[in-house]
Parts: sequence; C-alpha cells; structure tokens
Amino acid sequence: MLKITLPDGSIREYEGAVTPLQVALSISDGLARNTISAVVNGKQTEVDTTITEDSTVQLLTWNDDMGKKAFWHSSAHLLAQAIMEFYPEAKLTIGPAIANGFYYDVDFGGEPLSEKDFEKLEKKILENAKKNSTFNLREVSKADALKEYADNPFKTELIENLPDGEITFVTHDNFTDLCRGGHIPSTGIVKAVKILNAAGAYWRGDEKNPQLTRVYGVSFPKQKELTEYLERLEEAKRRDHRKLGKELGIFAFSEKVGAGLPLWLPKGAALRKKLEEFLSKAQKKQGYEFVISPHIGAKELYVTSGHWDKYGADSFQPIKTPNEGEEFLLKPMNCPHHCEIYKAQQWSYKDLPKRYAEFGTVYRYEQSGELHGLTRVRGFTQDDAHLFCTPDQLLQEFEKVIDLVLYVFGSLGFADFTAQISLRDKENRDKYIGSDENWEKAENAIVTAAKAKGLKTVTEYGEAAFYGPKLDFMVKDALGRSWQLGTIQVDYNLPERFDLWYNGSDNEKHRPVMIHRAPFGSMERFIAILIENTAGDFPLWLSPEQFTILPISEKYSDYAKKVSESLEIHDICGLIDDRNEKTGKKIRDAELKKLPFMLIVGENEENNGTISVRRRGEGDLGEMKVEDFISYFKEQAKPAFELGANQ
Ligand SMILES: [Zn+2]
Ligand SMILES: [Zn+2]
Repeated sequence: MLKITLPDGSIREYEGAVTPLQVALSISDGLARNTISAVVNGKQTEVDTTITEDSTVQLLTWNDDMGKKAFWHSSAHLLAQAIMEFYPEAKLTIGPAIANGFYYDVDFGGEPLSEKDFEKLEKKILENAKKNSTFNLREVSKADALKEYADNPFKTELIENLPDGEITFVTHDNFTDLCRGGHIPSTGIVKAVKILNAAGAYWRGDEKNPQLTRVYGVSFPKQKELTEYLERLEEAKRRDHRKLGKELGIFAFSEKVGAGLPLWLPKGAALRKKLEEFLSKAQKKQGYEFVISPHIGAKELYVTSGHWDKYGADSFQPIKTPNEGEEFLLKPMNCPHHCEIYKAQQWSYKDLPKRYAEFGTVYRYEQSGELHGLTRVRGFTQDDAHLFCTPDQLLQEFEKVIDLVLYVFGSLGFADFTAQISLRDKENRDKYIGSDENWEKAENAIVTAAKAKGLKTVTEYGEAAFYGPKLDFMVKDALGRSWQLGTIQVDYNLPERFDLWYNGSDNEKHRPVMIHRAPFGSMERFIAILIENTAGDFPLWLSPEQFTILPISEKYSDYAKKVSESLEIHDICGLIDDRNEKTGKKIRDAELKKLPFMLIVGENEENNGTISVRRRGEGDLGEMKVEDFISYFKEQAKPAFELGANQ
C-alpha cells in the first residue's frame, strides 16, 4: 500500500505507484480536470509524475499561486519556441515565472525586438499552444547537454554549474529547453497570451555582463481573464502615484536636489503631517514617548551596531570633518540612536517597557536604476519606534503593537491583509543569537498575540532574522496587488551589542528585549500606496484640501474669507477659488482635483449666514448654516475605527 498525505492531513491509500492526476481523480472528476500541477514532497512536479513511495502531495489548480507559476513557466517555454521560430539566431538564456506572468531573457544578436513584433509572437504562441502538446522531461548527461548548447554560452554556463545526473531537458511539440520541470499537463490550456514589454537586462543581473532583451508576457486559461487583467493594468497606470502625485501637487523630484530625494509640496506636506499626527496620537495613547535623534551618527555607532560591517560597503560613504579626521555616516536606521537614548538613563524593571517613537529620516544608497517614485528612494522617514521590555512583557507589547497596526489599516481603508510570522529554522538553531529559552518566549508571544487578535496568518520557518523572529503585514490594495507594510520585529542582538540592561527584581542586571516596529513602514512608501489605493481620493479626515469655497462673484469674496476663517478654527482646511470663472467650471475643476466639499456662497448665503454645500460624488446637499456644516463635517471625518476596539 502506498500512502499519500494531503495538505489537510488526510491520508489516502493506493495499490501501487500513482500520479498526482490519479490522486486527483480518486477524489473527484472536477478536481482532476482542474489540477494543472502538483507539489510532491515539497518539489513542484508535473501531474503525471510517478510516485512510488509514501509521499505528501498538494494538488494545484489555476487558483493556487504555485498553479499559476506552473502555467506561466510553461508559457515561457511557448514564448521561447515562438522566438526561435522567428529568430533562429537568437540565444535563449533563462525564462522563469514571476509574480504576474513570465519573462524570457534572450540574446537577439543585432536584431532588437520591438513592440510591433509582439503581435506575431502572441499569434504564434497560441497557434502552437493549440497543438495540445505535453511537456516531456528527460535526463541528459552533462556532456550531451553541453554538446547540445555548444553555440550558446549562456546555457553552457548554466549547465556547467549543474551536477551531472541532475540535468534535464524538456520537450513540447518541436521545441526543447534546459529545464528542471514543473509544467502544466498540456499547452492546450493556454488560451490567451499578451507580450507586455521588452526591456534591457544584463545576464545574471550584472552590468559587466552582456546585455540581453527581457521579453515579458502574461497568459491565462481564458480570454476574459486576460481582458480583465489588462483593464487592471490600465487602471494601475491611471493610479500610478508618480502621475497622481504630480497632478495632485503632493511631491516632486528635482535633478538639482538629487535622484531619489523627494520634495514634499505644501499639499503633500499637509497630508504627511496629518498622518504623523494621527499615528502620534494613537502612540501617545499606548504610552509611547517621543524622541529626536540627529540625521548623522559617528561611524563607530554603526560599527557597534554591526551595520557598518554588513552594509557599509553598499552605503553612502562616511562624511569626514575637515580638521579632526572624524567620520560620520548618514543615518541608515534609527535603532542605534535609540539604544543610546535608552542608555542615557538607568532603568529598573519597574520602569519598563520604554517605548521610544520618532519619525526618523534615514538615508540609504540605492542604485539610480532601482529608484522608483516614492516607493524606492534614497532618503525617507520611518514611523519608527523601539520598545525595550522584559522577556515577560513581550506578549502584551506584541498585542498592543498589533492593535496599533490594525487601527492604522482600518482607519486608512486597508481591509484585506495577511500577516506572515517568520520563525527560526527548527533544524538549524545555531544560526541565531539569543538563548533558546528567550526565542521560545518570543516565538510563542508572536503566535499567541496574532491568534488572540484574530489575524489571518502564514507561518514561515527559517525566515526569522538571525537576531529575532518577526511579524510582517501584507496588504492587498484596491487592484488586488500585494504590498508589504508594517513590520514588528524582536531583537536580541542590539541590546547585547550596546550592552543595554535594567535592574531586575532580584537586583541583578538583565538584558531588555528590543522590538522594532513601523506600522506604515515609511511615510514615503505608505503615501505612495495610499495614493494608488485611493486613486487620490483620500479619506475625508486625511484630505489635505477638504473644501474649496466658490464665491459666485467678486462681491462675495469677503464673506468667503469669513467662512474660510470659521472653518480653519476647527482644523477644517481648504482654499477659496476666486478666479474669474463660471461656477460650473469651478465645480468641475474641484471634482477633478478630488476635493471633498465645494461650498458655494452668493447673496442668499451671505444674508442667511449659510453656505450651499456640494459633496464630491454625492452632489448638492443644500444650504446649511456654517455651524451645522462644521458639525456635519466632524461627524463625517471621524475615523471609522477605534484603537484597540477589536480586543
Ligand atoms: Zn520548464
Ligand atoms: Zn529599528
């Protein structure tokens, strides 16, 4: 009897050798029809791979990420086949599946590939796919493999790095490629394909190597899914924070100031300030204290923290003083500074936890080619805090930090998220610093806190940092894209390196545990994601320009000013549009600028002490007393969430 263990823990028995497809068939015909790949004992395989011993089997459909990976990886083979039919001189290199589709890196020789070639490739791919060919894996000797690719230096390099006996070729239709396996049952299920882009890429990502063309594509089992995907792509382009950030006057870049160094325009600064105030208020409620540290630090500080050894060579290089020969680094992270702040005073166990918060600006070198809007920059501000507590306080602190993160996500409209718990590799415990006992405590604290807060979690063993376990939040935005936000991380390393301690109840010195946490991650990245998630239509309380007052003629300018002043007193902010334009045009402009309220004032309004209110997306709300509008506004602008409400 052969035992197959399925992901839910159930065990099925078979007479003899079995394939994943047969396992699927033994469960249901429907499942068998939809199974396109499988994971057998942790390795992704084809559905017709023979299983001869007791194994764990996961059956994959298009709806599984790993299923899509097999689909897109197989599509890369179809792309390579089509390329070789049109460009027989081209040299293939590698062609993996990626998060959204696949690519193939190709040396086209002198012939570049351009957009006008995409359609013929798409047609050819579908024409070949229709032949319904299977992918057949066979082992080849290293010598034979090298012979086969004698005129392809890229594949030769790949083969040379593979151990003899582990080299396989895969053939579908008339096309063969070097490949490890993991394909769909047949090419026929690829029903729609789009070549998205062709861009330069260096062989193995190294700019000293030859430049290749990376051809990006995406494919689907149904035409409808491709159409929807392309619509989402278009929508993503419309929402691109680099485009909207400019249109809405939020941020800018200047070559003169330098690449990767964002400039916050008044509206962006207002938005950012509101976010900072929002988080500061919540942090204050949770007993955080605010600290401020300088933008640079002596190199020695980062030698102590270990950052210099680890990242020094790839960072901005030290700044030297002209006379004393001292060396300073632009602050790459706030943690070492906060350790020194902790150390500035002596603490007893009764004083803990200490929670130091700072919107700390840090500078990290990124290659210019890697820079991207606000999501990849060289200077950014973290909503940072470091908590110093006793090992026994970890659970409670973790729960509070999770509350804070949930409050932030809830208030800003991120409803769909998962939390990844990263723990130690159980087999390899000497990689980590800190005692076994403390690790157990920390890992239990994370798992227990996440459960108590009802988080949707995935647990990854071996993903913890060497200095402690962590919890990362992945949010899905309005377009279904995943972003990593907020992280909470336990650290046993820095307290050791900085020799931090507190006096315990036993009157002995003890090491505190440190927690790093940043619910937004960084202000820059968070605002970029917020812009793309809301398409610039921010929650009312956060909107940097909440109203525009539209006097119907110059005569009512003074009254408009009076209204504006009464609103400003209540922290409701906006401007007066006193351009010499028709009110209809001003309303249209305000709608385009996504301003939440348009307040129209004329003779009636002035006489009655009122305003005529229009709300974006809702239209006319009628005439209101200014005081009534203020109460209405405050009611509407209340964040829908309360801190710790889920307890
Ligand atoms: Zn393959
Ligand atoms: Zn830190």
